[in-house]
Amino acid sequence: MTPLEQILKSQITTQGPMSVAEYMSTCLLHPEYGYYSTRDPFGAGGDFITAPEISQMFGELIGLTLAQVWMDQGQPAKIALAELGPGRGTLMADILRTAKAVPSFAQACEIHLIEASPKLREVQAATLSAYTPVWHDHVNQLPSDLPLYAIANEFFDALPIRQMIRDGEGWRERQIGLDNDALAFGLSISAPLAALDHRLSDTKDGDLVELCAQAPLIMRTLAERIQANGGAAVIFDYGDWRSLGDTLQAVYAHEKVPALLKPGQSDLTSHVDFEALITDLPCTHSRLTTQGVFLERLGITDRAQALAKSLGGTALEHHIAAHRRLTHPDEMGTIFKTLALFPKGAHPPAGYEV
Ligand code: SAH
Repeated sequence: MTPLEQILKSQITTQGPMSVAEYMSTCLLHPEYGYYSTRDPFGAGGDFITAPEISQMFGELIGLTLAQVWMDQGQPAKIALAELGPGRGTLMADILRTAKAVPSFAQACEIHLIEASPKLREVQAATLSAYTPVWHDHVNQLPSDLPLYAIANEFFDALPIRQMIRDGEGWRERQIGLDNDALAFGLSISAPLAALDHRLSDTKDGDLVELCAQAPLIMRTLAERIQANGGAAVIFDYGDWRSLGDTLQAVYAHEKVPALLKPGQSDLTSHVDFEALITDLPCTHSRLTTQGVFLERLGITDRAQALAKSLGGTALEHHIAAHRRLTHPDEMGTIFKTLALFPKGAHPPAGYEV
């Protein structure tokens, strides 16, 4: 039994069943035993690998998109370049290296990182030791008087979700309780839920809908700053438009495992509901685009060919595989989606359409 499993069981014994959201946030961010609080989970030796860890091309193309936004929006002297959930700091490092191609853009960037894990903050500090990033717990703490250039890759899928199952005109919440002293899923009694009134028309009894309370609040904060001061946000994640079905997933050592196994030691995510991210925002958003199409629009194949010229042997094989992995529909190209926020009346960032 993991130490966290013991903690979860005692809590359920004294306080009753918990929501999937509470289970997720405890497993991921418990200060002592949480998944992100205790480890650096990325890469071949870890549990999963993300786009920036696959290839530098991902961050380079995002860096160019952001530099273009900055030029389109009148080259402000100072901007907040902010990343939500920066992992190892690799994406930010790739963006900043590329930004040097436009020196006045690089000089304008004040770096802000939103990171909950003290362990990963240390890794980010080492990766970004040539810079002076400022860390925050929450997007509310980002400077409110600067244009905001925000990036989030695989951040929203780590936020806690509730899972609701349609039952007549109401919903039963999926909960985690105990069955013969083992963690087990159960259901609450049925109750109406105003936040899901709009889903009464497109769901039927037994359908499962996921709800992330934090995501729309975070998006609203980003959108308000972007509308007021300029800038853009680019969001990348596993997911789709409008949640339907159970997407809670646990991964341990690159393998899917049951969600209640190894709490605190396996990564827990869910597919992002992009519709919920952009509902009622005060700024404009692009259309949802697949990651593969976005990267092709920005010329990833040309960039891959240019980089390939200086590579040979295994390095070249890895590079070709990385290009395929980021863009191919059978790999990350289609299941990963992206969208951008930008001020009303401004051009969409390069790679996005409205
Ligand atoms: N963007 C990185 C890492 C993605 S993993 C990459 O592409 O490689 C998710 C990241 O979000 C981790 O850095 C994790 O510690 C952080 N995170 C998860 N939940 C968070 C929260 N509620 N607030 C701030 N950071 C969070």
